[in-house]
Amino acid sequence: MTMVGPGNDAPWMRAVRSAGLVSAGGTVRPTIFAEMSALAAQHGAINLGQGFPDDDGPAEVLNAAVEAIRGGVNQYPPGRGFAELREAIAEHQERFYGLSLDPTTEVLVTAGATEAIAASLLALAGAGDEVITFEPFYDSYAAIIGLSGARHVTVALHGPDFQPEPADIDAAFSHRTRVVVLNSPHNPTGSILEREHLERIIALAAKHDAVIVSDEVYEHLLYDERRHVPVATLPGAAARTLTVSSAAKTFSVTGWKIGWVTGPASLIDAVIAVKQWLTYVNGAPFQGAVARGLRLGDDYFETLRATMQRRRDLLAAGLLNAGFSIAPTAGSYFIVAEHAGLGDAATSARALAADPGVVSIPLSAFGRPGGPVSASALRFAFCKPDDSIAEAVRRLQNLRP
Ligand code: PMP
Ligand code: GLN
Repeated sequence: MTMVGPGNDAPWMRAVRSAGLVSAGGTVRPTIFAEMSALAAQHGAINLGQGFPDDDGPAEVLNAAVEAIRGGVNQYPPGRGFAELREAIAEHQERFYGLSLDPTTEVLVTAGATEAIAASLLALAGAGDEVITFEPFYDSYAAIIGLSGARHVTVALHGPDFQPEPADIDAAFSHRTRVVVLNSPHNPTGSILEREHLERIIALAAKHDAVIVSDEVYEHLLYDERRHVPVATLPGAAARTLTVSSAAKTFSVTGWKIGWVTGPASLIDAVIAVKQWLTYVNGAPFQGAVARGLRLGDDYFETLRATMQRRRDLLAAGLLNAGFSIAPTAGSYFIVAEHAGLGDAATSARALAADPGVVSIPLSAFGRPGGPVSASALRFAFCKPDDSIAEAVRRLQNLRP
């Protein structure tokens, strides 16, 4: 009889271990986002931890989903997603970035950016291969790389502006590199990868024949007049880049799980080969609604950006006032902050949830033990109403220096 069980080298064990979710005693913990949101609920704390907005998305996008359900759009959509959404995604890439895509072969709709990344990595990397990410990194990257059996190689980002050292980028690449994952604007640090680094990565990816998977879910959340530059628009990149994004952040619908991946037809074919066995298809009634959102006028995107910038400024000023030092946020939902009175962030983030009742995420959750991520830094999300941010920073006023 074959035993089916949690062998130490079982793929799921590799995934949770890679994501740092196995405690010393061998128990498997939930993700840091789930844990901290549960703590927020338990203590009635203000939740600046898990990055989801409290506001609803634009009414016409929400209404379009309701109408779709009432109108009978409730069965399996086509494997690549409804043509209407694929066309809207291609139009969006053309309108904002001048990228020209064939919606029939170069666009795939996925169950959130999470599935787009998972299917891309599982399609392109396996045992004996290496996948590069920056560190800190979004938690799902490590888990999926672990699941794929590939080796996870990281390049440190250095605060306060969270950029890499060029020499570290050079050193990370090898003949085994199959994929390099980029994420700009960056979760958790809010940094934007400078163009010279992007150009370096494109040249190295070409030299080693690696694919760039670029996670651009915060593409509409850049502040202070910055404009998003997809890596696929830079010379030499388009032929080897899969660009990933999602409706979650752009339309404040994190629960809808509509994402997409765009790129050369041959790479999209590889991703769909995996995606079709993961979820097959997803979110039929939401797809047309997201297409509606992608076609909204510039004022929608500008208002979203300006609202989040105002909230960033509110949180930044409040944290400074409460004695934190903060890293500058160029984009995303997040500010990285440290406070001399707090010590180890994994401990203090949990303690602050109870008293004074503010939830954040320890930055170390986005890195590996012994890695370059500061053990004392916290990530605060500002995608929350102004009064929640104001109350959170008021509660943080009385921390000991
Ligand atoms: N990548 C990054 C950098 C994220 O921050 C998130 C979620 N916040 C995702 C991917 C996942 O996006 P989705 O919810 O569309 O799966
Ligand atoms: N992306 C969100 C964040 O970084 C959380 C998503 C999740 O809970 N997996 O906070």
